[in-house]
Amino acid sequence: MDTHRLRNLHRPDVLRARLERESASRTTLSFYRYVRLKDVEALRHELYSEWESLGVLGRIYLSQEGINAQVSLPTENLEAFRTNLDRRDPFCDVPWKIAVEDDGKSFLKLAIKVKKKIVADGLADDAFDVTNVGAHLDAKTFNQKVEEGALVIDMRNNYESAIGFFEGAYLPKADTFRGAIEEVTEVMREKKNAEVLLYCTGGIRCEKASAYLKHEGFTNVGQLHGGIIDYARQIKALGLPSKYKGQNFVFDERLAERITDDVVSACMQCGTPSDRITNCHEATCNMLLVQCEACAQKYADCCSPSCREIHLLPFDLQRAWRKGRSTRSTKTKAINDTEGLRKRIREEEELLALNGSLHPELSDVTFKVIPAS
Ligand SMILES: [Zn+2]
Ligand SMILES: [Zn+2]
Repeated sequence: MDTHRLRNLHRPDVLRARLERESASRTTLSFYRYVRLKDVEALRHELYSEWESLGVLGRIYLSQEGINAQVSLPTENLEAFRTNLDRRDPFCDVPWKIAVEDDGKSFLKLAIKVKKKIVADGLADDAFDVTNVGAHLDAKTFNQKVEEGALVIDMRNNYESAIGFFEGAYLPKADTFRGAIEEVTEVMREKKNAEVLLYCTGGIRCEKASAYLKHEGFTNVGQLHGGIIDYARQIKALGLPSKYKGQNFVFDERLAERITDDVVSACMQCGTPSDRITNCHEATCNMLLVQCEACAQKYADCCSPSCREIHLLPFDLQRAWRKGRSTRSTKTKAINDTEGLRKRIREEEELLALNGSLHPELSDVTFKVIPAS
């Protein structure tokens, strides 16, 4: 098989334009399964060519331990996709979760990646029994147990829980899965016999987190089956009250889907209530932040005046400035320190008023010789 063809070769703007032109409606869905997979590379190529022909876009991780998939596809091909999954034993009857709020623009391309693990959890799997997971709870049972006083723990990163969470849940400050699980083990160490309920976006992280907590001596661990995504579907279908408030952070172009109208967060730049999550549009920064519409205008969709200054340059100059600079910080994806950000903005605005620029390097001769476009 010519495997070179089995990957996307187009630029994001080309892909976005193609998606905009598409008239058929798309459905966004996700699924995962821990299951032994053999010959993962070959399977990856088979899936790519089959799913590409069904118009599937999205991000799929394959490993010897299973599959973790977030995809969108033309709604008319849903049945064919179901058949395609069921045709293979390891994926037969795998439950999928359909996104509640969906403009069909969740993914731009199809990417199927072979990985060591289907979730980058940073845990040593051989150190505990990963199959000894917590009880799977549906939305109704989860709600009941919350009312009965169970401890609720959010297993997501801080930037995910910033814009939505279960009322009263413990929200870890960590911005990695491993950090969150260690924090929870430490903070809850006196409560190992209490009933604890875990939740995450789609349920997959709780499979590992519940097994880990049980290994650490927690005796009564439950987990929200299908995560927030399926909770939203269930409460809608059954007319149950939502104990989850605000938006659900998702890992695709949408960034979030609204579960309730509650706004649980504030603009990180000005402090007014907002749960509009976005990335800084300066490409080398790209940090996630909560930003209100007014601040988006004021800072040209950027996190700070210094990013704004670059983002507003003619495209050629931006490109010249970026040359040799690494894209985005590898340490963290989101701005965590709101106070620090506001202080930085104040200082930068002052400097800008004084000097007319926050980037003295822009007056360098290399930038001046580039003809304006
Ligand atoms: Zn604002
Ligand atoms: Zn920025």
